[in-house]
Amino acid sequence: MLKFHFDGGRKMYFTRKSSSITRIKNYFQKDGHHFVELFDSPFYPDGSGGQIGDRGFVGEAKVLYVYDDSIELDSPLPSKSEFKAVVDEQRRKEIARQHTAQHILSAAIEKVNGAKTVGFHMGENDSTIDLDLNCDLRKAELLSNEIVLSDIEVEELIVTPEEATKFNLRKDLSEKAIKSGNIRIIKIGDFDLSACGGFHTSKSGEVGFIKVIHTERVKGGLLRVWFVAGLRALDDYSSRLNAINESAKLFDASWTSLTEHVKKCIDESKEKSTTVKKLSESLAQYISKGISAGQIIEVDESVASFLLRIKQDIPYALKIAGTQNISLCLPGLSQDQVMNFAKSLGAKGGGKGPVYHFTIDNVKKFEESFFTIVS
Ligand SMILES: [Zn+2]
Repeated sequence: MLKFHFDGGRKMYFTRKSSSITRIKNYFQKDGHHFVELFDSPFYPDGSGGQIGDRGFVGEAKVLYVYDDSIELDSPLPSKSEFKAVVDEQRRKEIARQHTAQHILSAAIEKVNGAKTVGFHMGENDSTIDLDLNCDLRKAELLSNEIVLSDIEVEELIVTPEEATKFNLRKDLSEKAIKSGNIRIIKIGDFDLSACGGFHTSKSGEVGFIKVIHTERVKGGLLRVWFVAGLRALDDYSSRLNAINESAKLFDASWTSLTEHVKKCIDESKEKSTTVKKLSESLAQYISKGISAGQIIEVDESVASFLLRIKQDIPYALKIAGTQNISLCLPGLSQDQVMNFAKSLGAKGGGKGPVYHFTIDNVKKFEESFFTIVS
């Protein structure tokens, strides 16, 4: 049986200190931003172990970001020798929920089909894990939430690297971790053992709820899994519910038939686009028969594209309705002639001939001078 010894020399943020009275080691400004280095910082740094950092206050100044060796503040500090540094405990609690959820979900996934978590990132709204294999995530999600509902104790064990090798850890220890001295292991009952330096809840029940919200294939053939837990899961549920209810209201339908309504709407829209395309083509055919050399006419963009394709034997111009765009059909003129004309009007664009497309600020000036190039 292994004996666990709890080391007094643990890094301070492991002790979850939530405030300190501290002296300033260094204060500096960079590109208009304020930074401070503290002798006794209670703030957990951003990005450490894939976790987001603490926030809170140093004196009256708000903490914006926590680097390994400095803290970015929203305002300068007054000249004082000591400051009270206070951590936002609610945020830290929520971080602990996400981090514990990650241990539970990764362990559950591995138990379902052996897929290993090879990456973890915690964001401000959701978190991701990268898996080396596909997995039945519904099964893993159910197992995870069973662990949450069982309210198992989450323990923190501090052991020597030698002792650590005797544990059946979910992830092998890195050389760096072994060399850095004592190892912190997070034990969730008989369910999971992982070396980790972040924040965790003291019981699995505090995680509240774990929900996978999205998956995507990413580089290296990995499967990226987005998940939320704790109050974030409630927020996520609320905003999705809100979006669904608002959409259902637009269709004057219940949310259960929403997908059906959206599908119907998309099908109808596709049908209408096909009809508009056919009508535009017919209209273009009709206009092409009556158009004369040097004429400028205003048409919709959908009609213009057909017209320019079927009528290229005489020079004419199309003003595209509701835009500053002009399309020209100029057979018999060289590209240089057309581009010089466009340049004289400050028009931007081009073409290979006989069709050209330009955007122009002064449409009136164009209308007055078009005859000069076609006459
Ligand atoms: Zn952890």
